[in-house]
Amino acid sequence: MKPTRLCLSCGNAFVPLPHVPHQRYCSMDACQRARRRDWQNHRLRIDSDYRDNQARAQARWRAGHSGYWREYRDAHPAYRERNSSLQRTRNARRTFKPIAKMDVIGLPRPLGSGFYVMCHADDAGAAKMDAWTVHIAVLSAPAAPRI
Ligand SMILES: [Zn+2]
Repeated sequence: MKPTRLCLSCGNAFVPLPHVPHQRYCSMDACQRARRRDWQNHRLRIDSDYRDNQARAQARWRAGHSGYWREYRDAHPAYRERNSSLQRTRNARRTFKPIAKMDVIGLPRPLGSGFYVMCHADDAGAAKMDAWTVHIAVLSAPAAPRI
C-alpha cells in the first residue's frame, strides 16, 4: 500500500506523485492554486528583492493598462456593487487622523519599510478616492528629535 498524506489545503488524503516525493498539496486545481499562493505569500514575507520586483512589475503593468479596472468594473456591475459595499463598511470603521496632528501631540511614529496606501490629502476623508498601493523602503532611520 502506498503511503498517503493529508493535503495542506483541502485536508483530503492523497498519494504523492512519484516524481514529487515531498508533495504537500494534492493535485486538485484549487489546491495547486493555494500552493502557488502560499509560496508567493511566503516569498513576499521573507524576500525583499522579490517583494520589490513584484511591486515594480505590478506598477509597470498598471501603467500599461490604465483603463483595465475601470472597464472591468463597467462590465461587471455585481463586482462593482460588492466593492462599493465593502468600501462603505471600511469607511464606516475608519477614523481618519491627519498626519499633521502627530506633531501636535509630540509623538511622531517613525514609519518602517512596507506597503502603504497613498492618496491625495484632499481626498482622504472622501468615500470614494483614487489610491495607490506603494512600497516604501526606508533607507535611513529618522534623526532623533531635538528637544
Ligand atoms: Zn487538496
